[in-house]
Amino acid sequence: MSPKLRPVLDGIPTYKPGKPAAADGPAAYKLSSNENPYPPLPGVMEQVAAAAGAFNRYPDMACTGLMNELSERFGVPVSHLATGTGSVGVAQQLIQATSGPGDEVIYAWRSFEAYPIITQISGATSVQVPLTPGEVHDLDAMAEAVTDRTRLIFVCNPNNPTGTVVHRAELERFLDRVPSDVLVVLDEAYKEFIRDVRVPDGLELYRSRPNVAVLRTFSKAYGLAGLRVGFAVAHEPVAAALRKTAVPFGVSQIAQDAAVASLRAEDELLGRVGSLVCERTRVYEALLKQGWTVPETQANFVWMRLGDRTADFAAACEEAGVVIRPFSGEGVRVTIGECEANDIFLHTAEAFRARL
Ligand SMILES: *Cc1c(COP(=O)(O)O)cnc(C)c1O
Repeated sequence: MSPKLRPVLDGIPTYKPGKPAAADGPAAYKLSSNENPYPPLPGVMEQVAAAAGAFNRYPDMACTGLMNELSERFGVPVSHLATGTGSVGVAQQLIQATSGPGDEVIYAWRSFEAYPIITQISGATSVQVPLTPGEVHDLDAMAEAVTDRTRLIFVCNPNNPTGTVVHRAELERFLDRVPSDVLVVLDEAYKEFIRDVRVPDGLELYRSRPNVAVLRTFSKAYGLAGLRVGFAVAHEPVAAALRKTAVPFGVSQIAQDAAVASLRAEDELLGRVGSLVCERTRVYEALLKQGWTVPETQANFVWMRLGDRTADFAAACEEAGVVIRPFSGEGVRVTIGECEANDIFLHTAEAFRARL
């Protein structure tokens, strides 16, 4: 007999990591995981190297240096901050803190593929609310989906994988409708890439609303995906619950020190984000010119709803030298990467379109 495992684990969708670029094959560029294509900044590397000299020791469990830096940078008390192993780690802690068997977690679909996984692990039930035909969160339908059992609602803004956003007025209207004992998590993993001024900063909404938590990550704009560090800003008692549900010593000292160094090098890092935003505009406009229907994106990727052509398109890209992220039968998400990679992708898209 095998050890008894929790039945809720049956049928959990496995997280599909973006395929790596093949070391020897034609696919030299990875546009499949929304990573930052720029290599680490030299100053951040120095901090990492220095911290690496002490990895026989446990990290600072309270992440003191990073918490203080975040507190100052964002103007929030340290008691409202919690760090974790990437913002996915913090999202899982939020679910553990709020939701168990019999409870419901609402999120848009399609959205970030970690949401169904971490919900199911907790034993709670996913309530998936379809995106509008324009690929945007249907906040009215999400508000209507709230029941007595709802414990947490994710709003992914901009949404992964569609890149679409919800604006201030509609988000405030939604928050006004959600009962104050339901936690609303604004997942702002791509915040720094937003240029649409109608998109609110979640931190503004959190300040006056005790049931709003904001998730941020160092993985995308700050380029620390491999170091696993993210954080939440939330009122008590939510922030305190996050500290309780954290894996002890989850965030390495290397990650903590790199995050502090990145906040201090923010000007340079945000300059890189600016360049990626220019590339995003170039890619988006080129796709429209080629005749594709692409939702306007405020993140570092574009979404193409290709339906049953998805697999063929992904294969064509890979053959041409770029690995993208197919969602079987639905569409592809393509990260904005190096100019050369974006060029290869655009040429492939154009050639593919010509054959339709
Ligand atoms: C990439 C991403 C994250 C961040 O993941 P980390 O665990 O911080 O690397 C969170 N939410 C969404 C929607 C993402 O796309």
